[in-house]
Amino acid sequence: MQCEKKSLRHKGTFTRIGLRSNKYPVPQAFFKITLQSIMKNRLLGKNLEELQAAALEAGLKKFAGGQLAQWLYEKKTGDFTAMTNLSAAARQTLAERWETGIRPYEQVTDSADGTRKYLFAVECEHAGKTERSLVEAVMIPDGDRRTLCVSSQAGCKMGCKFCMTGRQGFHGNLDAADILNQIVSIDEAQELTNIVFMGMGEPLDNYEQLSRALTVLTAPWGFAWSPKRITVSTIGVLPALKRYLDEFSCHLAVSLHHPFPDARETMMPVQKAWPAEQVLDLIRQYDFSGQRRVSFEYTMFAGWNDAPVHADALARLLRGIECRVNLIRFHRIPDFPLQSSSTQRMEAFRDRLNRSGVTCTIRASRGEDIQAACGMLAGKKREEGEEKLLQHFQSQCARREYAGKELLRKITERLDGDADAAQRVLEALQKDRYQSDERYAAAFAREKAALTGWGPLKIRLALRAKGISEDHIGQALEGIDTEAAGAKLERLLAARQRQLEGDPAARLKLIRYALSRGYSYDEIQHLIP
Ligand code: SF4
Repeated sequence: MQCEKKSLRHKGTFTRIGLRSNKYPVPQAFFKITLQSIMKNRLLGKNLEELQAAALEAGLKKFAGGQLAQWLYEKKTGDFTAMTNLSAAARQTLAERWETGIRPYEQVTDSADGTRKYLFAVECEHAGKTERSLVEAVMIPDGDRRTLCVSSQAGCKMGCKFCMTGRQGFHGNLDAADILNQIVSIDEAQELTNIVFMGMGEPLDNYEQLSRALTVLTAPWGFAWSPKRITVSTIGVLPALKRYLDEFSCHLAVSLHHPFPDARETMMPVQKAWPAEQVLDLIRQYDFSGQRRVSFEYTMFAGWNDAPVHADALARLLRGIECRVNLIRFHRIPDFPLQSSSTQRMEAFRDRLNRSGVTCTIRASRGEDIQAACGMLAGKKREEGEEKLLQHFQSQCARREYAGKELLRKITERLDGDADAAQRVLEALQKDRYQSDERYAAAFAREKAALTGWGPLKIRLALRAKGISEDHIGQALEGIDTEAAGAKLERLLAARQRQLEGDPAARLKLIRYALSRGYSYDEIQHLIP
């Protein structure tokens, strides 16, 4: 069963590894964005006054700013020509000076549980340069609800040890247009019921742009969303948190993860600058008993924060705050020593907190199979990794430092265990190295026959699936050293026969095994008389 499906939107200017196409990817052409789209300012994310100013500049009346807001935020129109209540001349002037800012996503990946992970290309200012990055947004369906988890930064500078985003470092703030574009460009844009700022980055570390996006989302001239449908999550950036609580009435989620300061600091460096106790003192000054809610996120790690003593300390810490605690299963990331707590342990922790008067639930994990669950978002790192790795291994391959399984192991390791991405890089490397379908098919057939013992049928099917023509497949199969392939099959069968010793159905099983490796009955019958 295929539980993961990837689809890509071609937009002419983008070329990527892993496209399901017969054309080979061109590594140098990764993520090319037209100069024009980079240079123009974007209207998305502008407030009403700014849109009115844009309208005046285009020779329109001031009230046309409201019409622009309607096209952008209500109708989610990314094309000036469709804005038919504006004059043709004004539409042209607008198009010459502005970009709407509504840009299509790069890729969507579907999880078996219905979660969808969207990938967006963004341009961020960082360290005096404009950097091109990828960020992710995750759409989580749940009954009638459609929640979008939105990113606010490319990477993150907070450095939480258990988080893939934190590991990739900081690559810049998203601007309001990039934040809102995640909301308007996904396939479910018109069906969304909730938005949570829990994607890549720390939203309160990018307060100006977050604040702009929230204003547009909640203003009557904007998306006109109720603040009750929006949650901003933070690890506790204290100064910006105060501004957020004063200026907006959306919900708040705070990532705690440990009740004891010293232990929390080992995983979350933010504890040193803004201790959780101070964050909680601030929260106590606001009313969360009405429409606005506060919740605390608590990722559960076996043996680190899941004992009764932690539950009791957490209950004490949250005393006096009307809140909910969400327990989150930890999703393993490479080179991190801790594991998730067991379900039993999480349930015991939840029950203990509930008994002490703190409402606590276990949050269902969603999208783990597509690396979309909490703490797993790493779009930029992985994508940059693919591009960089391709270049890195091109030279290593040329020097023949690695090949075959060792090469695949090295690539997978560098991609944090993402086998799909590693396979894409490997295939791109092989195709890049062999330059033509013909040479690639011949090398593929030789390698599969000699190293894995695949029979001609299996090789044919694999090459067909890669879009190689029948002519080239035929030539490749002719070039296989049939003697070596036969010897390999003989060895495979001998090993299998040893495993099946004493089994009355051994002969039948051996034949089935050889057939499954892609050999014809004619080819195997002399080995299994
Ligand atoms: S958990 Fe949040 S704040 Fe911490 S590193 Fe990851 S994205 Fe940044």
